[in-house]
Amino acid sequence: MKFHVLTLFPEMIEQGLNTSITGRAIAKGLISLNAVNIRDFANNKHSKVDDYPYGGGAGMVMQAEPVYQAHQSLEAQAGKKLRTIYLTPQGQTFHQEMAKEFAKEEELVFLCGHYEGIDERVLEEIVTDYVSIGDYVLTGGELPAMVMIDTISRLVEGVLNNGDSAEYESFQDHLLEYPQYSRPEEWRGKKVPSVLMSGHHANVEKWRREQSVLRTAKWRPDLLEKAQLTEKEKVLLKGEGYDV
Ligand code: SAM
Repeated sequence: MKFHVLTLFPEMIEQGLNTSITGRAIAKGLISLNAVNIRDFANNKHSKVDDYPYGGGAGMVMQAEPVYQAHQSLEAQAGKKLRTIYLTPQGQTFHQEMAKEFAKEEELVFLCGHYEGIDERVLEEIVTDYVSIGDYVLTGGELPAMVMIDTISRLVEGVLNNGDSAEYESFQDHLLEYPQYSRPEEWRGKKVPSVLMSGHHANVEKWRREQSVLRTAKWRPDLLEKAQLTEKEKVLLKGEGYDV
């Protein structure tokens, strides 16, 4: 899968993603990362890419033409229109289902704003998806782009060593994941739940599912609205005082 990032800070993207699991995936050629500096497409002596907003107000706005030219260069190389995501606090909030949908693409472009954002006219021309990573305002779109690329990369075949890892995680089936434990068996007087030591696979699965359901009810009850719970699980939750 190919990720292109249009940014004023390509080194931030490269340093952030060329490490750990995404770094290994890039090295193995499972994903590729192409961070393009929008400033390289500025057509003036000082490589200026921003200007004052029409109508006044605080801050600077990224100008349309350098962004457009940078994007054109990607589409010219690809020889086709590319799905282009503008990272913006005004977009739809990113979630795991959206990540799965983006993971079906062969190529994606992420457009990172800075300052007060980007001239609306170029957004109208090139953007296919407006995505936010949450209801707060960051200084730039680089961290949101990295959040999205990391999340989508994990869904690309071969990126995670254990093929199952992405399947049994939080938000699968609208539930949070069960608690995890590793060695030692006892840590500061706290023991690992005995069922996990039993070697009884079916009981382990049953315990994990119950823990998932209980944990979701406690921390993210909003998710449960879409989760498929059995009658037994509803009884379990009612017994614990949850309203289902
Ligand atoms: N003036 C803009 C507004 O009020 O909607 C905010 C601009 S913000 C300071 C600069 C850039 O950071 C944005 O163009 C966007 O690319 C990025 N950004 C900030 N917060 C974000 C968020 N929650 N999700 C995605 N991108 C964000």
